[in-house]
Amino acid sequence: MTALLGTTIAVSAATAAQAQELNLYSSRHYDTDERLYSDFTDATGITINRIEGNADELIARMEAEGANSPADVFLTVDTSRLQRAADLGLLQPVESDVLAERIPENLRDDDNLWFGFSQRARIIFYDTADVETPPQTYVDLADPAYEGMVCHRSSTNVYSQTLLSAVIENFGEESAREWAAGVVNNFARDPQGGDTDQLRGLVSGECDIAISNTYYFARAIRTEVDGLPEDARANIGWVFPDQGGNGAHVNLSGGGVAANAPNAEAAVAFMEYLASDQAQQYFSAGNDEYPVVEGVEIAPSVQELGEFEGDDVDLAAVAENVPLAQEIFNEVGWE
Ligand code: FE
Repeated sequence: MTALLGTTIAVSAATAAQAQELNLYSSRHYDTDERLYSDFTDATGITINRIEGNADELIARMEAEGANSPADVFLTVDTSRLQRAADLGLLQPVESDVLAERIPENLRDDDNLWFGFSQRARIIFYDTADVETPPQTYVDLADPAYEGMVCHRSSTNVYSQTLLSAVIENFGEESAREWAAGVVNNFARDPQGGDTDQLRGLVSGECDIAISNTYYFARAIRTEVDGLPEDARANIGWVFPDQGGNGAHVNLSGGGVAANAPNAEAAVAFMEYLASDQAQQYFSAGNDEYPVVEGVEIAPSVQELGEFEGDDVDLAAVAENVPLAQEIFNEVGWE
């Protein structure tokens, strides 16, 4: 694996002589990504021009720019957005032995239009003072035993949409509809805020059970987060759902090479760099995520959460259920 990293850097260094640039359209919203970019430039001499915005804006911009788009690489969080960019013809297939070898098949697009670079699990957190028997599965979240206890963010958010899309993929449309209605019945309050706000709800007492991506909680273990105790583990327990079943729902942050990339070679070099051991470690240490490449060291804050089985359902297939998930959210009144 380390040998592959060497190869990547060597290829990239060869292109450096031409003083190359790379136009990166990114909706990743983490300050720690800075190191990812500067290390790539140091190693390759390729300058990165960063165009940041929310994913929908960036997708609209690439669409509007069409064949003249300066975009080389599109980076975002959530497979549904990667798939949408792919469906709109905004990405091109990347044939790379490095990416094919290092990124597991279920974490990349079948046609090589997008690749996952980091993973996050969406799991169950609970107030240990109030909840004796926490839910063990996503299905449990709809159990009337938890009426008035559950907090989750709104259905307009991609994390919500992808979770329900995975439930559809695993259990079928009818079960997913019943499930969503059951969860709405169990809401402690109207959906609001981001994942950290769900965790804060456990502390304030508004919520007994909260769903959040793992990295928001791991961050609160590593560093101080407003509204959470100094040690996030005080009175907050967590469950990796569906162990022994489908496994915990996992989502990706990832990217693809733009369909009309003016610097396609640099774009592929950057994508390969993101799959290197070094970059994979940044994803974990800088933003408390799980690497996608096996054998890469996981940050201590993330290790704290313990090992788990992730759902290995095909995330490209899950992304295709998003429109149906939206319909179901509307039907069951998940705001
Ligand atoms: Fe997030």
